[in-house]
Amino acid sequence: MSKQRKAVALVSGGLDSMLAAKVVQEQGIQVEGINFFTGFCVEGHTHAIREKDRSRPKRNNALWVAEQLGMKLHIIDISADYKDVVLNPKHGYGANLNPCLDCKIFMVHKALEWMEANGFDFIITGEVVGQRPKSQRADTMPVVARESGAEDRLLRPLCAKNLPPTLPEREGWVDRERLHDFSGRSRKPQMALAAALGLEEYAQPAGGCCFLTDEHYSAKLADLWRARGERDYDLDDIMLLKVGRHLRPRPHFKLIIGREEGENNFLEGYRRRFIHLRTLGHTGPLVLVDGRVDRDDLELAARIAARYGQGRSAAAVEVQVEDPGGVLSTILTVAPLPPHEVAESWHV
Ligand code: SF4
Repeated sequence: MSKQRKAVALVSGGLDSMLAAKVVQEQGIQVEGINFFTGFCVEGHTHAIREKDRSRPKRNNALWVAEQLGMKLHIIDISADYKDVVLNPKHGYGANLNPCLDCKIFMVHKALEWMEANGFDFIITGEVVGQRPKSQRADTMPVVARESGAEDRLLRPLCAKNLPPTLPEREGWVDRERLHDFSGRSRKPQMALAAALGLEEYAQPAGGCCFLTDEHYSAKLADLWRARGERDYDLDDIMLLKVGRHLRPRPHFKLIIGREEGENNFLEGYRRRFIHLRTLGHTGPLVLVDGRVDRDDLELAARIAARYGQGRSAAAVEVQVEDPGGVLSTILTVAPLPPHEVAESWHV
């Protein structure tokens, strides 16, 4: 009896990786999924915080996909090692701070290590030739296979027929004829395949949930690096970039201002790390101060905090300023900053 072959599928939670895993499962291969946690794809988390996103599903899409396909999923935290990919991408960035080609190489390499450690035979991804401008081009797909070290143990079931046969195809573990020849940006072939496979529900966005592809998010990350004078971050930094209104009134400090109750509650969790302000007597946002500030800076921060609260039209508003941990507390009485004095350039 021939040996049961095992494949590890990179599962993002999107349609393509779901289909790729399913297509190979259909050929009798045992498939298990890996979802890598980079810190930049936390869509469900954002939806859980913000009121306007409450109706959107808060599920972890990768787990949901695994459940739909009846396969085991391994969620692996690569956020520490991933930092080097974000900070020093050998192949550069895409339109924003998305290091897609390096990211793909890195993830396939990590999957390869996992595959070898766990006695699996090959790797599956949902890549499609020509779908993404940088990481999924005919000339960059071999780069991923080569630089990750996976070589021909990397199978892309959705576009395999457009690529040279890989080891699993040559060895007859999978039937190349039952793989696909998708190419380009159209999503129609994927949707038709989903229907043919009886998959009626799947995550909609083709671009996935990675914040590094987001223009506004990337601008905030670049601003953080500029202000710190070094390109570095920790997990809290990148979580906070997704929450609140970010205003930099002076080069040496920035304010993170909750825009609604859910965000204020989330920011409360950071009171031990930042000086924070809140208005007294009027409902208002929780404001974190990121940077080194003096008395004048705090006065300005308090005026801005007052401007975004219910007391914005009052002549004077009391603002409580607390040190991290709430050890020291001061109350400043300030005039809310008039809207025209909130410079456009302050918005990060
Ligand atoms: S969008 Fe993000 S997760 Fe996807 S390949 Fe690019 S950098 Fe990696």
